[in-house]
Amino acid sequence: MQFSDLGLSEKVLRAVEDSGYTTPTPIQAQAIPHVLAGRDVLGIAQTGTGKTAAFTLPMLCRLEQGRARARVPRTLILEPTRELAAQVEESFNKYGAQHKLNVALLIGGVSFGDQEAKIMRGADVLIATPGRLLDFFERGKLLLTGIEILVIDEADRMLDMGFIPDIEKICKLVPFTRQTLFFSATMPPEITRLTEAFLHNPARVEVARAATTASTITQVLVASHGGGDKRET
Ligand code: AMP
Repeated sequence: MQFSDLGLSEKVLRAVEDSGYTTPTPIQAQAIPHVLAGRDVLGIAQTGTGKTAAFTLPMLCRLEQGRARARVPRTLILEPTRELAAQVEESFNKYGAQHKLNVALLIGGVSFGDQEAKIMRGADVLIATPGRLLDFFERGKLLLTGIEILVIDEADRMLDMGFIPDIEKICKLVPFTRQTLFFSATMPPEITRLTEAFLHNPARVEVARAATTASTITQVLVASHGGGDKRET
């Protein structure tokens, strides 16, 4: 499988070549054609599998048509932490060097003024942590009615950090007809419920088992003989 088999645009293929990548990773090979076809995707993959490029590259292709308007971003990527949000911004800057897109980052700990200026200019890509995004929305600084693609990344970490109510709120604020790309390393029941509520007939792409044990831990089975023997064993 080559990058050129996936349906990516010339500009994006050039960016991939400039990055020095020769072959797509499994999550990229499986997810990119679905994203380009406009389907919702449920990606079960951990950091390090190349999942950032699996959504960034096809999003760049989709963004080649159309323009952003002031205060109305076209795509939204939700990340659990400022650091992950900044890494995704870096990926857009790297792969989208030829695209001249406006990428805005909405994260805590940065002044509202600078972030607002970027949104005012019209953001093609808005990368945000859930709390800061809702804060902006509630102050009337931002409209979510133009979102064409919503990415929810690291969903199981969002769950650990208590962000699920915010995610549900945001999913209800973006248009029903948007495309949703949802990534999680594991699929606990709360995450499954979220995907059932907010994804429409998603293509499921899995590169790691839904729940795998840490490979650094040796597990052994010791049989106890029932009754009161368990504690003793
Ligand atoms: P991620 O899982 O998105 O955090 O990506 C992990 C690392 O893999 C990043 O440093 C990427 O630059 C790199 N990477 C992504 N796709 C490829 C690829 N197809 N070939 C080689 N490296 C890649």
